[in-house]
Amino acid sequence: MNPVLSDVGFTSEVIPVHHFFGTRQLPEGLQGSIHLGEVTTGPSAYPFIASLKQIHSTRVVVFDGPVKAEVLSEGEGDAMVTNQLHFLLVVRTADCVPVLLVDQEAGVIGAIHAGWRGAVGGIVSKTIQTCVEHFGSDVAQIHLSIGPSIGPCCYEVDAQVIDPLHASYPDWQGVLQETTERKGMLDLKKLIWHQVLASGIPEHQVERIEECTHCRDDLFYSYRREGRVNGTMMSGIMLPAETVKRT
Ligand SMILES: [Zn+2]
Repeated sequence: MNPVLSDVGFTSEVIPVHHFFGTRQLPEGLQGSIHLGEVTTGPSAYPFIASLKQIHSTRVVVFDGPVKAEVLSEGEGDAMVTNQLHFLLVVRTADCVPVLLVDQEAGVIGAIHAGWRGAVGGIVSKTIQTCVEHFGSDVAQIHLSIGPSIGPCCYEVDAQVIDPLHASYPDWQGVLQETTERKGMLDLKKLIWHQVLASGIPEHQVERIEECTHCRDDLFYSYRREGRVNGTMMSGIMLPAETVKRT
């Protein structure tokens, strides 16, 4: 099994930020290094690692100072952004969408956990906006990757999801294929993709990994397929010191 999937758009010489979208198999050395709501020290490849208690919110946590291992006083949330080097941001998913972003010009990275609640609530747009407002990012410089999640092939939703989607997203018909009355197949990745483009990130800088966590039992855990949390995939991003342009 391949331990991780990479987005080729991120691994080019242009954007050499270190990142991964995890599969069932954890990336090397990360077993036991992640503690929810804490910054921990990791193996030598990852000196510091941050992971939040994910709560399906639109809360973005900003790390803009020197990193140290600590229990975060406000360790709940679903997105993180930082300009600190050698600091791995990790999100965990098992059908929800992991989203990673980097603005190499401003030296900023972000990691987002987006389920339907977070996506409909606008967590991805809010994270991009945080990069702009807090770190002076230019959206035209941001590269973003939408990782493996449950696909429209397998993600049937009901009124609990459809009603707030209708209320907050006028173009809902482009991301929801109605099946029966009050039910439909939601394309969560496409919804996020639309929101990212609406935020102003150029389309050619946005990648989408279309693998479905529900279909690909061989690669991924799926909360919906398994009916419970047997495990989660970890996705992470880190700025390595030697590859970041500083202006
Ligand atoms: Zn599927």
